[in-house]
Amino acid sequence: MTVRSHVSSPDFPDYRGTMEYFCLGCGQRYPIDQLHYTCPSCGDVFLLEDTGFESLKNVSGAAWRDLFDIRAATKSDPLRGIFRFYELMAPVVEPDDIVWLGEGNTPIVTSSPALSAQLGGQRMAFKNDGQNPSASFKDRGMACAFSFLRALMRKKEMKSLLAVCASTGDTSAAAALYAAYVGGGISSVVILPEGKVTPQQLAQPLGSGATVLEVPGVFDDCMKVVEHLADNYDVALLNSKNAWRILGQESYAFEVAQWYDWDLAGICVFVPIGNAGNITAIMSGFLKLCELGVIAKPPRIFGVQTHHADPVWRYYSQPEGSRVFAPVKVQPSVAQAAMIGDPVSFPRVRHFADKLEKAYGPGAFQVVQVTEQETIEGMLLANRHGHISCTQGGECLAGLKKARELGLIGADETAVLDATAHMLKFIGFQEMYFENSFPPEFGITPDPALANRPEPVITSAEKADLTPEAFTVKAAENIVARLGLARK
Ligand SMILES: *Cc1c(COP(=O)(O)O)cnc(C)c1O
Ligand SMILES: [Zn+2]
Repeated sequence: MTVRSHVSSPDFPDYRGTMEYFCLGCGQRYPIDQLHYTCPSCGDVFLLEDTGFESLKNVSGAAWRDLFDIRAATKSDPLRGIFRFYELMAPVVEPDDIVWLGEGNTPIVTSSPALSAQLGGQRMAFKNDGQNPSASFKDRGMACAFSFLRALMRKKEMKSLLAVCASTGDTSAAAALYAAYVGGGISSVVILPEGKVTPQQLAQPLGSGATVLEVPGVFDDCMKVVEHLADNYDVALLNSKNAWRILGQESYAFEVAQWYDWDLAGICVFVPIGNAGNITAIMSGFLKLCELGVIAKPPRIFGVQTHHADPVWRYYSQPEGSRVFAPVKVQPSVAQAAMIGDPVSFPRVRHFADKLEKAYGPGAFQVVQVTEQETIEGMLLANRHGHISCTQGGECLAGLKKARELGLIGADETAVLDATAHMLKFIGFQEMYFENSFPPEFGITPDPALANRPEPVITSAEKADLTPEAFTVKAAENIVARLGLARK
């Protein structure tokens, strides 16, 4: 393959790969003309591998960097989002298969100096993945999964397809959005834990016209129901068991690398862990860039979990060599989108963490644990400094503080915090903090100094007694008194 021809023309890349599912348990490989989620022979999870990947190494790292940098300016829809990195993404889909709804290329916003000062001058930035179309990073994976589904339906001349997912809220919002856009025989059903998603997250699939089904319990209960459906019926599973979603989420790593001009020395990436798909994807993405010589070294990667849903932290806090994984029973968490006790992608995390540590030494991958209190206050603190972080982004900020306390990171390193969703999805928790209405199970005691409420200026009874002119003057005078304004 030649890269120059891509560079000189805005044409769609001509490289095509040969992708296979590859089982992390038994190593068995399966062709992609069938949808697979777990290995038919051993039940473990899959990764997707391009058997042509070796040939990509014939292109120099510098040429890849040039290519991706030039593509960053494209006006061709299929290459505007995660498929800017087409050759590393799913190079089996054709331009017409690719769905782009504005996902990807989310901004990395340097933290306000005042916020950084509160962390001892820490260099830090938020990557606002809440600025994706359905307001979370899940769109990255969904864009890839739906592009592949379209390619598959085209090849197999399928007329219709039912896509299902269990969700802590954002997966269903993303799945419903992409299904609504793509149409053409794809419809979506989302299965949610009753009362365990925020009203905003519930509104999203409803608004997109998905069938929304509620199951009592927590996410882990819903996941089992959906797995039963996927094992026994003809449905496409859109949870992160679906390896195409993991693939799409690798774009986060590619974008971080590109933003820092492909030089990640001194960069530490903080990622909240729930079902562990996102951190898997991010590790995989950086490792791919290393293999191709696009970057010399991956950033250091920190997973973050709260003490109410921390199975991955528990695993890595055991001494190396004698670690045992055990699911945990989750307790209510403000990092609700990550409130998962038995992460589906845990074997994938172990796979990539081992690779990172082998190649780049201890400290290449670490997990820190934070409290619920630290998590919600992380979000409030970020947003009081001009950011738009969700509770999981707050968890990352809390994780950074923890890493500083533990001496795992220096102020001269740059922390990139994954604000995985937009704050507006999680304002219910902000309200509970401000109103001091958290149920005791959360274990959160609000600091009244942080509470913020709207203040009435004048009552409607007072208003009724005044002429419109007098009302304006009176309301303004009350505001003058409240703010202590001086006349000019
Ligand atoms: C899904 C989600 C997470 C957890 O990501 P995993 O891939 O499940 O580990 C974190 N934050 C938000 C906002 C999410 O939607
Ligand atoms: Zn297997």
